[in-house]
This record gives sequence, C-alpha cells and structure tokens, in this order.
Amino acid sequence: MEKLTKNDDGELMLVNIVEGMVRQKVDELIETLDMCDCKRCRLNACAIALNSMPSHYVTTEKGALLGELEDVEINYQTNITVEVTKALLLVKEQPLH
Ligand SMILES: [Zn+2]
Repeated sequence: MEKLTKNDDGELMLVNIVEGMVRQKVDELIETLDMCDCKRCRLNACAIALNSMPSHYVTTEKGALLGELEDVEINYQTNITVEVTKALLLVKEQPLH
C-alpha cells in the first residue's frame, strides 16, 4: 500500500551545533556592548569565536534539531560565553570596515 511509504520529510543535515549557539550568543551579547552591531561585525565575531572552539557536528533531521541542541548546549554554554565575549571585544577594537 502506498500509505506505508516512510516519512521522508525530515531532510538529513550536517550541522555544527556550536555554530548555532555562537550565532545566538553573539546576537545576545553584542547588544550589551557599546559597539557596531552590523552584520559584518556579527559574522566576524562568530568566525573568531568558532575558530577558537572545537566544533561539534551532528547528523540530524531538520525537525529534530532543537531537541538535540538542548542536551549539548549545557556543556558548551560557559565556554561559548567566554569565547564570544573575547571575539566581540576583538571586533570592537578592530572592526574590519
Ligand atoms: Zn560593523
């Protein structure tokens, strides 16, 4: 029967979950600093922070992403705050524009 076809809606993706967390943290912390918050500065800060941290890749389905994130997020949270703050201060000192 056609009805038995598997649900293939969940497209598989390779995701560095640290990246999502860093992007979020950059958006959050850049508001608290007296600095330029244009897209370039945000992304530069993301790049610096991500390069200074180990990446954490997972294979996941699009819909399942949020659930998995929460578990690992706790382990990374402190480190991310530290590295993102450092990165933002670097960008603040030397905006590349
Ligand atoms: Zn800027």
